[in-house]
Amino acid sequence: MSEEMKVLREKLLSANKNGYDRISDSDLTAMEAYCAAYKTYLNLGKTERECAANTVALAEKHGFVPYRRGMALKAGSKVYVLNRGKSVMLAVIGKESLAGGARIIAAHIDSPRLDLKPNPLYEEGEMAYGKTHYYGGIRKYQWVTIPLQMRGVVALKNGETLCVVLGEGDEPQYVINDLLPHLGAEQGKKPLNEAIPAENLNVLLGSRPLGDEEDKDRFKMQIMKRLHDKYGITEEDLISAELEVVPAMHATDIGLDASLIGAYGHDDRVCAFAALQGLLDCEAPAKTAVCVLADKEEIGSMGVTGMQSAAFDTFMQDLCEGQGVALRECFENSFCLSSDVTAAYDPNFADVFDKRNVARINHGIGLCKYTGARGKSGSSDADAETVAFLRRVFDEADVIWQMSELGKVDAGGGGTVAQYMANRNIATLDAGVPVLSMHAPFETVAKLDCFMTYKGCKAVYEAE
Ligand code: MN
Ligand code: MN
Repeated sequence: MSEEMKVLREKLLSANKNGYDRISDSDLTAMEAYCAAYKTYLNLGKTERECAANTVALAEKHGFVPYRRGMALKAGSKVYVLNRGKSVMLAVIGKESLAGGARIIAAHIDSPRLDLKPNPLYEEGEMAYGKTHYYGGIRKYQWVTIPLQMRGVVALKNGETLCVVLGEGDEPQYVINDLLPHLGAEQGKKPLNEAIPAENLNVLLGSRPLGDEEDKDRFKMQIMKRLHDKYGITEEDLISAELEVVPAMHATDIGLDASLIGAYGHDDRVCAFAALQGLLDCEAPAKTAVCVLADKEEIGSMGVTGMQSAAFDTFMQDLCEGQGVALRECFENSFCLSSDVTAAYDPNFADVFDKRNVARINHGIGLCKYTGARGKSGSSDADAETVAFLRRVFDEADVIWQMSELGKVDAGGGGTVAQYMANRNIATLDAGVPVLSMHAPFETVAKLDCFMTYKGCKAVYEAE
């Protein structure tokens, strides 16, 4: 190639280089420390409630205080609201008025899982089981024959809420069994999505009877007795419980080069942690920086703790009223980064991707102008100006980023909280970490992409 062509080529064509060919040495060092903290965040928060509590603990360590309606705030004030223990909204008050808009990052902290049903306990074949109802889009066959935990809360009639963690540390764990191949001939002929029916996702809880042969419900009794011994609860208390069956595995480095992280719940705690840490490290921003960690994204962002809830508008309105600003004025001048994971290109399943428009592992935070399915349906489809704004913010902050789509057109699709923010008249764009095996009990992400998402979030908060 002539020198002239080389120069022209560099000027005109996108390079799309691997992040390791672009990242600085200082960022490489910072990346490892950041990812170590992220793994701890994952291990401490396997449910939305645990994740919210851990978020609040980290925020308080960084000087955030609970927001009280009407409290006096000034530039640099750090406040948060914990919404019903399941979602968190945090803000660092900016030097400028909220009339000029806020810099918002929204991620979600609920993940696909199996919830225990309100009447979960039964015995069959001299074993005790718990019935589950899956939450979010899972591939059911992935949830059998892996070690499981049960985590969540039991709310009592007296108003007390007990935190439950079963299967952590030295405690026994749980499992959902599958058929042996020797007898699996018929099952094996079924389509993947039908081989394990939802009502077969029954968690094995025990097999040792309590009492004598003449006693009834001996296997179920054994389980209930142990739950009573540990938490003082009865079977009826399970009616007002939220017990989530989640993978028992801890977050771990993946690959001989330790360049990846495998864990349960990267979707979307990998972006939630980036959004949080970005805010914790953000000192005195020009515009008010807001981080929203929402619940219920995996089932449509509904409900009081979902992104469609008025809880967010209430929080923002409270902040606006403190400055004599109308919420609608703040929203119309705000920018929101909807930070959610995207599908990473997987060469083992190349045919579901358009390889020219896909997020690649180690190519940085993946921007998605639109999500949706069947011709962008259900997507807020950010405008070109908003995409250009984020290109500038990221480039100025040396964030390694890439443009992506969630798979091939008509291969499927998905959504995020972006549409609910955009419907509020907030300019919104999706960007997040590319994930391999998304929604599986054990998902994989690249460390470089995790760190670049953190850098991207911090840059958005600090953008003028
Ligand atoms: Mn997600
Ligand atoms: Mn998801």
